[in-house]
Amino acid sequence: MCAQPASVSIDDIRAASARIAGRILNTPLVPSASLQEMAGVPVYLKLEHHQTTGSFKLRGATNAVLSLTSAERARGVVAASTGNHGRALAHAAKAEGAVATVCMSRLVPENKVAEIRRLGAEVRIVGNSQDEAQEEVGRLVAEKGMVMVPPFDDAAVIAGQGTLGLELVAQLPDVATVLVPLSGGGLAAGVAAAVKSLNPRTRVIGLTMERGAAMKVSLDAGHPVSVEELPSLADSLGGGIGLDNALTFSMCRHLLDDVLLLSEEEIAAGMRHAYGAEREIVEGAGAVGIAALLAARVRSSGPIVAILSGRNVDMTLHRRVINGATSVQGEVAA
Ligand SMILES: *Cc1c(COP(=O)(O)O)cnc(C)c1O
Repeated sequence: MCAQPASVSIDDIRAASARIAGRILNTPLVPSASLQEMAGVPVYLKLEHHQTTGSFKLRGATNAVLSLTSAERARGVVAASTGNHGRALAHAAKAEGAVATVCMSRLVPENKVAEIRRLGAEVRIVGNSQDEAQEEVGRLVAEKGMVMVPPFDDAAVIAGQGTLGLELVAQLPDVATVLVPLSGGGLAAGVAAAVKSLNPRTRVIGLTMERGAAMKVSLDAGHPVSVEELPSLADSLGGGIGLDNALTFSMCRHLLDDVLLLSEEEIAAGMRHAYGAEREIVEGAGAVGIAALLAARVRSSGPIVAILSGRNVDMTLHRRVINGATSVQGEVAA
């Protein structure tokens, strides 16, 4: 017997789309004249960084919260993310009258703490590392019955992110290539599942940074592996995929046509192009599609869609990148 690996289907994604309708924005798909000129085929930008809370993560978090039973919702949801998933979960829970608790270490900067509070979550500060914050999540699940909503390796989260794929195929039925930012793979798995089930010939390419690309290293190894985490302009793409990964690793393995790695310089160039040519403020993770096109790393025989996945970048860092910096520290690479 050969058990099918667990997966998320187009039916799950359609159900998620119906569930979250009216609670998330349908984001614009706009043509990019400058990128079309370089690529030689039509290029469109999916402006998902305009999503409420500044990233696509609201789709998955909203679907996860709405999929809870009323008893579960009453006990509240919990996560350890201080980034886009934490923001999204805080907003999604508040919108449904549920309490979200976000655990974070003492090292998290005050502005991030304030932002998560502003979005309506309870903040619990514990320990000196992300691992200790994650242990606190486990404790709250075990002792208070709170429901953990993981950032990517969860069927409801993946189905929610997949609604972005449904939406872009409705906007551009003849899309030939989709460029998807890739970290834990919730976005890529959901988008690829949707797009390929509607149009099996569309290519879906995952894009991530050279520095600490856990999914790429895992795909090459044939099993989840952990990699050293390094600072990157694409900070939202950092972190591992989990050695006990249940869904996103196998889905990415089966559904992605390719994974490309971008250097810090290429990601910085993507952010600059987004700002200068497209008048869009995107964070590093959101700029990898533009970066790959600028670096002439993408071949496509038909229309390309690049997903701009988020805009939550520190504005001082953004200004430095616009002014020519190509690293988190701000030195210009030789
Ligand atoms: C989380 C995130 C990603 C990566 O999504 P995964 O589902 O972890 O692969 C990409 N871009 C932004 C802005 C994000 O917040």
